[in-house]
Amino acid sequence: MAQLTIENFINNEHVKPSLGNYFDAFEPARGLPYAKIPDSTKDDVELAYKAAATAFPEWSKTGRPERAKVLYRIADLLESRLDEFARAESRDQGKPVELARTVDIPRAVSNFRFFAGRILHSVEEAGELPGVGFSYTQRMPIGVAGLISPWNLPLYLLTWKIAPCIACGNTAVCKPSEFTSMTAYLLCSVLKDAGLPAGVVNMVFGTGMNAGQAIVEHPRIPLISFTGGTVTGAKIIANSARYFKKLSLELGGKNANIVFEDCDFDLALKTSLRSSFANQGEICLCGSRIFVQRPIYERFLNGLVQGAKALKVGDPTKSDVNLGALVSKEHWEKVVSYIDLGVKEGGKIECGGQKPPSLADEFKNGYFLEPTVISGLTPSCRTMREEIFGPVVTVYPFDTEEEAVALANDSEYGLSCSVWTENGRRARRVAGEIQAGTVWVNTWMARDLRMPFGGMKQSGLGREGGEHSLDFYSELKTICLAD
Ligand code: NAD
Repeated sequence: MAQLTIENFINNEHVKPSLGNYFDAFEPARGLPYAKIPDSTKDDVELAYKAAATAFPEWSKTGRPERAKVLYRIADLLESRLDEFARAESRDQGKPVELARTVDIPRAVSNFRFFAGRILHSVEEAGELPGVGFSYTQRMPIGVAGLISPWNLPLYLLTWKIAPCIACGNTAVCKPSEFTSMTAYLLCSVLKDAGLPAGVVNMVFGTGMNAGQAIVEHPRIPLISFTGGTVTGAKIIANSARYFKKLSLELGGKNANIVFEDCDFDLALKTSLRSSFANQGEICLCGSRIFVQRPIYERFLNGLVQGAKALKVGDPTKSDVNLGALVSKEHWEKVVSYIDLGVKEGGKIECGGQKPPSLADEFKNGYFLEPTVISGLTPSCRTMREEIFGPVVTVYPFDTEEEAVALANDSEYGLSCSVWTENGRRARRVAGEIQAGTVWVNTWMARDLRMPFGGMKQSGLGREGGEHSLDFYSELKTICLAD
């Protein structure tokens, strides 16, 4: 089959990369190249920047109701193409179609709908200043934003940036991950069909080293919203420092899952299976360190192992498949190297750890990996401290509430945590002590777009979500009027 060639999207037109270079995108389930991706350079970023800068004056002055209308139209059009987008996301990323159909794409639709509504209903601050007059705040669009996204939830995380960015009146140069360009490419036609003016959103495809870095180092792109790894986040801070850019960084995690003996056992187990292995464990919010109170430790571990063994790994298009393929060969090798490290560090592989033996011939070269549960490691081991970002979890017993909190907080990361207990007071106490941007009690991955989202420690800088997104994507100005 002929390979599809993706092109950049600048000024609402598809354009070839300036040097004419492309690289292959691989289909993770088959391990075969299936599309050509532009290897964009600084020159392509400059073209995109110019389009965005030209579109900015008019878009930034377009009233909120008009902007909201376009965002609602984008949401509707995207929703009407749900199945097509879900299939494309799955083929490109490796995840089950069903997951993309029920989570990734609907959440991308919600991103546009939510921020359309939010700018319509958000109210700025105003207050009387006795003896002087009164003060009020005004939100000013900032300019051209650089939006850089990862490969694990490609469309969902890219639209999490595009929607508030343009809702606030900015224009954008976007760079999706080089591993997953397809749904961003499809989105371009949705944006155009929805009537988004030319130049408001521009898409430059390519690598982090070339296109990504050119965005970060562009002197006239004053804000960068980045989701990706912590090491890349540090580079972005360093490379943008001299320009005093506004940065929002959503980075890695090594999230704890604390299971108390008084939990709803079946619910905790069922959800822990999901939080361990959904999207092949490639969600920054996956709970990869499971701490279980000793009286239920053996029973929980057995349940987790039995549950993991029962999960189906394989053809992502099949509706009964739970895990598809990991995103790339390099990532598969990285995850497997952590399983090997876990064994060297004294861990016991309770289940998984291998490529599934029973894959159909067409998937034999795919990047599949069995869900893997490791016990017997100590919290100082690298396997329990470093982000693996695959279908691998460690399980460890604890005795007291204080110990559980200390174990969970003993991490360089602080993205999310889930706590399982039926004791409401304990839930509030523990949630209050946990150093993480999001704590779920008796649930996981519930997303409330009105709430702040972000990480503590090396999991990120800043918060997005609700009013926090509006704060990031606009300059807040105070105006004081004398009587
Ligand atoms: P990554 O850091 O390798 O890449 C992310 C994006 O940054 C890609 O588009 C990449 O091309 C680009 N990039 C790479 N180097 C760059 C540079 N020097 N300058 C500018 N851009 C550059 O991350 P990844 O492997 O795509 O994604 C996995 C990571 O993302 C994991 O660590 C995961 O935890 C994290 N993540 C975090 C969240 C969150 O909300 N906190 C959500 C999803 C993923």
